[in-house]
Amino acid sequence: MTDVRPDSQRQRKRVFIRTYGCQMNVYDSDRMADLLGSLGYGLADSVEQADLAVLNTCHIREHASEKVYSELGRLRDVKQERRGAGRDLTIAVAGCVAQAEGEEMVRRQPAVDIVVGPQAYHRLPELLAEAERKAALKRAGKRLPGAGVLDTDFPAESKFDHLPAPHGVRAGSAFLSIQEGCDKFCTFCVVPYTRGAEYSRPAAAVLAEARTLVAAGAIEITLLGQNVNAYHGEGPDGATWSLARLIQALAEIEGLARLRYTTSHPRDMDDDLIAAHRDVPQLMPYLHLPVQSGSDRILAAMNRRHGRDLFLGLVDRLRAARPDLALSSDFIVGFPGESDADFDATMQLVDQVGFASAFSFKYSRRPGTPGSALPDQVPEAVKTARLAALQSLLVKQARAFNQSKVGRIVPVLLAEIGRKPGQIVGKTPWLQSVHLEGTLRLIGRIAEVRLTAGHANSLAGELAGVAREQAA
Ligand code: SF4
Repeated sequence: MTDVRPDSQRQRKRVFIRTYGCQMNVYDSDRMADLLGSLGYGLADSVEQADLAVLNTCHIREHASEKVYSELGRLRDVKQERRGAGRDLTIAVAGCVAQAEGEEMVRRQPAVDIVVGPQAYHRLPELLAEAERKAALKRAGKRLPGAGVLDTDFPAESKFDHLPAPHGVRAGSAFLSIQEGCDKFCTFCVVPYTRGAEYSRPAAAVLAEARTLVAAGAIEITLLGQNVNAYHGEGPDGATWSLARLIQALAEIEGLARLRYTTSHPRDMDDDLIAAHRDVPQLMPYLHLPVQSGSDRILAAMNRRHGRDLFLGLVDRLRAARPDLALSSDFIVGFPGESDADFDATMQLVDQVGFASAFSFKYSRRPGTPGSALPDQVPEAVKTARLAALQSLLVKQARAFNQSKVGRIVPVLLAEIGRKPGQIVGKTPWLQSVHLEGTLRLIGRIAEVRLTAGHANSLAGELAGVAREQAA
């Protein structure tokens, strides 16, 4: 994001934002940066340069809150050093850990000035003003009841109605949040508690934001939602639009070459959305569809609301609609009560489907979720062995998928500089990373690339000619 204003108008304050977790948090951090930019904050590369530090947290991994508290300890030290030098550091914690911990966070780490949940960060300007007022009173020697400013409400108004238009697009690619929250209540997951009930943004607002992003240089947009294919937003025609209808409308935006969406739930994969994979050329041939387990017994214990057959039936229908579809999924091994036979059912499902990529984890208890209280927790050593077996199969499948594309010339969105000198990295339509030689000039463009080698996590390639360029 570049500050293009003249020097006289440049911001004097700087914010450092550290983002943990998923793409939705990346989107939220960008929007917080836009919002704070409207208050005169520029972006800082490190906390040392910043007046305001925001930790945008994620609760999905084990020990998530402990990691946040450890980072907060570091920020407290910076804040204390600053005080001696007469310059303050305001510390804000946002995201799912902030939502889950609430007041406890300020009690455990009094250096925290602001705690704001994922549905309330549009109120950051008011929260900052309140935090500054409290800090001024403290400097004046006033004793205040309670430290920190807290907002972990699920406000009736939508945060999206109170955020400025997005400012920046990185390398031709942008995220766009269209849906938040979840009503599914899988027994291992904290999302329904930290992000609240399902909410879909009106289609007109999504279309307007997409047009702004395309005008700012986006040629690929990834639609985001905790349960994105449950999207049911109000359409400009007054009808309720499904995700498929929204994708059709987005595909009409000139200059938008690629559309993706994540993360989906098998129960919400309807006929229209499957047909969109056949009919909408901008919709990339990739789908992340978490299944979690191949055992009906475990899926029921997880409250997934789908069985093995429903998932396998979807895979067949999706592949009939789009034969080259790359399928990705999430797996949890060692959910409470998972027997050898249950785990075998997962291995068998993986074998049957053949995934292009996947994320797999050992089950770990999340405080406050029903799964954490279930009996028959699986011993750690068993979980470790099962995860190793599953990952070995998934890696084999990913490598086979990548190698099946070698020799083809495909459009690749060139997205970033590689680690080696002269190397750039792009994404194929199937979302594999491709490493190739190229110049910075190509970043943010779609180029034809010949794929020359396939590995487990990426491909190698070489330029075969620039196919489509980002508008100047
Ligand atoms: S559908 Fe996804 S977000 Fe919702 S509870 Fe289940 S795992 Fe969590």
